[in-house]
Amino acid sequence: MTTPLLTATIDLAAVAHNVGVLRESSGTDVMAVVKADGYGHGAEAVGRAALAAGATALGTAQLTEALDLRAAGVDAPLTAWLLTQTSDFAAGIAADVDLAVSSPRALAAVVDAARRTGRQATVTLKVDTGLGRNGIAADEWQATAIATAKAIADQSVRLRAVMCHLARGDEPDHPLNSEQAERLDRCVADLRRLSVAPEVVHIANSPAALTRRDLARDLVRPGIAVYGRTPVPDISDFGLIPAMTLTAQVVLVKRISAGDGVSYGHTWVADRDTTIAILPAGYADGVPRLLSNQLEVSVNGRRFRNVGRICMDQFVIDLGPDGGGVREGDTAVLFGTGAGGEPTALDWARMVGTIDYEIVSGIRGRRVRRYV
Ligand code: PLP
Repeated sequence: MTTPLLTATIDLAAVAHNVGVLRESSGTDVMAVVKADGYGHGAEAVGRAALAAGATALGTAQLTEALDLRAAGVDAPLTAWLLTQTSDFAAGIAADVDLAVSSPRALAAVVDAARRTGRQATVTLKVDTGLGRNGIAADEWQATAIATAKAIADQSVRLRAVMCHLARGDEPDHPLNSEQAERLDRCVADLRRLSVAPEVVHIANSPAALTRRDLARDLVRPGIAVYGRTPVPDISDFGLIPAMTLTAQVVLVKRISAGDGVSYGHTWVADRDTTIAILPAGYADGVPRLLSNQLEVSVNGRRFRNVGRICMDQFVIDLGPDGGGVREGDTAVLFGTGAGGEPTALDWARMVGTIDYEIVSGIRGRRVRRYV
């Protein structure tokens, strides 16, 4: 078998370790969030590793993501929370996916699907307690609560959970975190007055699971920390281990002369005779073009800088006049844990003014995933 040109190596032992950190920090159960193909790491493989390490459920955004996991044979509890009235609720019910609804309309469509198919639906009420994104709006809460009570009474629905998502979880001391939790608690109290009790309540994403044990409730719902990335890098890494390392094979090494321009637009011109190497990764694979002339990679333990524009499929590094001992076929580490002196996804994120969530979930294209 030929070695792939671009490889995302996913360390499943790191995923298991990170789930352990999250169970410990939160003191409660973990629903590992594997949406967006496991933040770019592979939903099924990461999901299975997280479950084996003690996670009790998996969470996705779209229903199709949960259905794909079921079709792949994952039999753990699954929750999907980015649904609308036209989602295929009959399929969700048949696959025993917990359907987290954000409006009374979506709830009505779930109830309708349950009645049509003659099967009870598992439902979570996702409440907008202050995020200002999906979730049941304040002015629709009472109607949704009453409709839920009716649907439970006629057995078309089982209420698995009441959940909300934090707007400022990555600012652990921000008062909004506690306020959102209090609002959710009031929703649970409203349901109790209707003689309805959810099996579980959940709030906490990664930063809250790591820093706000008081918000843990019955389970936490971390994503990024499962992949070993701290959501609050200025506070701590919590001993998490980054699970993805991105490497590329050096496909070409060649000499260029002083005055030669490199890559589109010649944004870099050699000021001396030098040696360059071509790496087979570009913006179509998730390497941001904005990193042009800034990105560094590590080859054989030494750092080399990208010169010239990052293209769709490739970019160039300057090896220096002596060629840096780099040969065609050598492995360049684009990002990793940082333990070997290589850049991290957080380094990339900081250079382009984003978060490492966007970097790792954006690794795509021609990369081959390898699980270790
Ligand atoms: N819960 C919900 C509803 C989400 O949308 C997400 C991700 O955005 C998470 C949990 C996990 O968040 P994080 O990756 O910050 O842990």
